[in-house]
Amino acid sequence: AFAGDVQFLKGVVAMDGLPPDDRPEVCFAGRSNVGKSSLINALTGRKGLARASNTPGRTQEINFFTLNESHYLVDLPGYGFANAPVAIVEKWQRLLKQYLSGRVSLRRAFVLIDARHGVKAVDEEIMELLDKSAVTFQAVLTKTDKLKAKDLDKILAQVREKLSKHPAAYPEIVLTSSEKGDGIPTLRAIITGLS
Ligand code: GDP
Repeated sequence: AFAGDVQFLKGVVAMDGLPPDDRPEVCFAGRSNVGKSSLINALTGRKGLARASNTPGRTQEINFFTLNESHYLVDLPGYGFANAPVAIVEKWQRLLKQYLSGRVSLRRAFVLIDARHGVKAVDEEIMELLDKSAVTFQAVLTKTDKLKAKDLDKILAQVREKLSKHPAAYPEIVLTSSEKGDGIPTLRAIITGLS
């Protein structure tokens, strides 16, 4: 089972706070407001597990959850706060780089993309960082319920085109709606299938 077997472990603000890298781990990255908390809550079947409102300064930490004692789920802080203080952004970016390049048990990053907006400049930045860190990443479109099929196809084509430029990108894109539950079982299966 997946739902119900997820526990919050800890929030990490520095590399020496990371839990032991003794099991496969996946992380979730995305612009603030992309629907990351909603997605993690939908995945785990637990409302309120991931905080639904992220504010700069308060959530500049890497949040670790245990999944069935077998995996870690890692919630990275949302990026793209226009008004975040420079010092906070720099501290966070340093930690993010260290984490992504140094975490041997990190099997995959999920980069969340708002289906209404497609890949934005800040999404490109995180993808480049993942390329450099040699962390395989998979794009997850969020809020697909907000689009008509025709518009979703257009965005998918744009995302595919952008992903093709990134060596670390995994080709399969996951379409999700936390609201409707679409794509949630698929994403669960991908995560539990990683060893
Ligand atoms: P976060 O900042 O990335 O953690 O984003 P949240 O999970 O807090 O979601 C941001 C906003 O998008 C909230 O108003 C959510 O209700 C909304 N939202 C998130 N996921 C979905 C979805 O699948 N469908 C729709 N229609 N709205 C969503």
